[in-house]
This record gives sequence, C-alpha cells and structure tokens, in this order.
Amino acid sequence: MADEDTIRHRARLVLRRLKKRYPKIGTALDYQTPWQLLVSTIISAQTTDENVNSVTPQLFKRWPDAAALAGARMADVEKVIFSTGFYRQKSKSIVTMSADLMERYGGMVPEDLDELVTLRGVGRKTASVVLAEAWGKPAIAVDTHVKRLAHRLGLTDHTDPTRIEFDLRELYDRRQWSGVSMRYIQFGRDVCHARKPICYECPLNDVCPYPDKTPPPG
Ligand code: SF4
Repeated sequence: MADEDTIRHRARLVLRRLKKRYPKIGTALDYQTPWQLLVSTIISAQTTDENVNSVTPQLFKRWPDAAALAGARMADVEKVIFSTGFYRQKSKSIVTMSADLMERYGGMVPEDLDELVTLRGVGRKTASVVLAEAWGKPAIAVDTHVKRLAHRLGLTDHTDPTRIEFDLRELYDRRQWSGVSMRYIQFGRDVCHARKPICYECPLNDVCPYPDKTPPPG
C-alpha cells in the first residue's frame, strides 16, 4: 500500500469527487420511521431496494410498528415478503428483532451502534445504515460495494468489513462519515462494477491504482 499521507489525500479526493457527482444522496429504501428503515434494511439483504420497496407498503400497513410486528404470525409475514428471497430467515429476523426492541427498548430504536448491534438480527452494516440515514449520526456501513471500492482505491488492505470500516473511519473526518457509504455504494452500482468497471469513463481514474481494469471498448 502507498504511504499514509498519499492514502489520506486519495480518500479525500475520492469523496470530494463523489460529492460532486452525488451532491445529495440517501438510501433508496422507502421508510417513515427508524424502525421501518431497520426492517427494510434487514429485508434488503441479497435483493434490490426496488424489490424491498415493492413489499414494505403492505408490510407496514399491516404491521406499522415494532409492537405490531412483534406479535405477528411468522407465516403471515413470510407471505408478504416472499418475493424478496430468503423470506423465512428475513421474517424471523424482523419479527424477533421487533420483539427484542419491545422488550428492551420499549419499541424505540436506539441511536447508538453498540446498542443497535445487540438487537437480534441486526449486524454492524444494518446498524450503521440506520444510524447514518435515520438518525443522521456518524457511521460508515460497509457492504459489498464499499468493500470493493475501498480495495480498488487502495484505502484498505483488509477483507473483514469491520476492519475496513475502521480504516475508512481513520481516513475521514467524523463529520463526513455518514456521507461516505451511500456515495460509495451508488458509485459501485453506476461505474465501479464488480465484473466490468467502467474505468475509461471513471472520474476517479487519475487517483485509482487500477485505472485500466477494463480497457475501453473497440
Ligand atoms: S478506475 Fe476503474 S477500478 Fe478504479 S475506481 Fe474507477 S472504475 Fe473502479
């Protein structure tokens, strides 16, 4: 890896350019309350945000809060979120998380990472999404896109998401944390694809250590 100053400089340039490209960005998941975002984020595993948004109106109409979902029949929930895949596991996660939330927090979603991750079915990535998006708190969620970008841009040499999160935390000012993930994610979807990144049209091309991953067509 390059020296620390170079990496820090690169990280700053990356975020500056991504901010220019995506001046305003937030999760594409539809939600009204932090609890709804928590539920939607759990359901979003291994599927698209569009798929999640196609089932949550019905889900939240029937079970509008943690108290309601905590008392839901698993089979009923499974039917509603069936089309998002892994519906058994996801139903179990959102119902048990809601029950846990009722039992320990009176149905209120905590605004603290260490507390959020103690909820059943809530991992660090989900907790960070909710903190940054619903509560506007400093947090960096590391998903597959963030992981790929951080690697390609030489901002980390770790593979473990938590260690990548801590590397990114070190590179950015705390006030910037909540603006990192969604921009990295969107850029990963739009340009720096897993298989064929569009390097020849990439606005990070001059700072990326792998500017020629995909040659221009023709
Ligand atoms: S130059 Fe290619 S590998 Fe580097 S960030 Fe851009 S698209 Fe990704």
